[in-house]
Amino acid sequence: MLTIGCHLSSSKGYLAMGKDAVKIDANTFQFFTRNPRGAKAKALDPKDISAFLAYAADHGIHKILAHAPYTLNAASADEKIREFAKNTFTDDLARLEYTPGNCYNFHPGSHVGQGAKAGIDHIARLLNEVLRPEQTTTVLLETMAGKGSEIGRDFEELREILDRVTLSDHMGVCLDTCHVWDGGYDIAGHLDEVLDRFDRVIGLERLRAIHLNDSQNPLGAHKDRHAKIGQGHIGLDAMKRIIRHPALKDLPFYLETPNELSGYGEEIRILRELFQEM
Ligand code: FE
Ligand code: FE
Ligand code: ZN
Repeated sequence: MLTIGCHLSSSKGYLAMGKDAVKIDANTFQFFTRNPRGAKAKALDPKDISAFLAYAADHGIHKILAHAPYTLNAASADEKIREFAKNTFTDDLARLEYTPGNCYNFHPGSHVGQGAKAGIDHIARLLNEVLRPEQTTTVLLETMAGKGSEIGRDFEELREILDRVTLSDHMGVCLDTCHVWDGGYDIAGHLDEVLDRFDRVIGLERLRAIHLNDSQNPLGAHKDRHAKIGQGHIGLDAMKRIIRHPALKDLPFYLETPNELSGYGEEIRILRELFQEM
């Protein structure tokens, strides 16, 4: 069975997200832990969470994926920005324990001129400060398109972060198909080779989630503009091979395509059909 969902707005709480997911035949979803461009998180509502957990169990939603806000830059040279990242991270990890056993995805950050090495050191230091042995949440580094000074533009940079984290059992990777494509990995023409490379550099056992997006730009463009499934440069045939690949088919897939709820529902319908086709 394909585990697939999309990014949903968290503004109405967990139960509302669960119901939206079920409406479009999704069995997982992604959400921002707080306003993606802001800092403030809404207070958690314990009633909403327990209602959601019961609803999710009833409707076959076994995993969800939290996404950190875009404003979080753990790689910044500015101590205040790193402090903000640390506080946000700590608060998010504490909140996520109310929905235990899920994943928390974040963009490693941008080094903004210091060089990747310095940025990677900052990111690893933050992770070593915020991870706790007892946490049940797995923290995921997202593969990035490499626009500007983004860290995570290749698998090696993610490996370097993981190597520096002490509690690395709590760490994994989320592969964004648009981002790796824009980063120069040909998942349309050479999926097996890209996954082999991922396995050699990072290890496929670290791969915990897939952001399933087509790309508005050609291979290696370093742009990061998502396209609807089958309407970009990656294409529908490649999407079919991705969701059915033996190394990927049991992972949760998350759409971050430019869609409203009904558009996501249509993509999920198409992908479920492709998954089942002989
Ligand atoms: Fe992301
Ligand atoms: Fe993504
Ligand atoms: Zn993106």
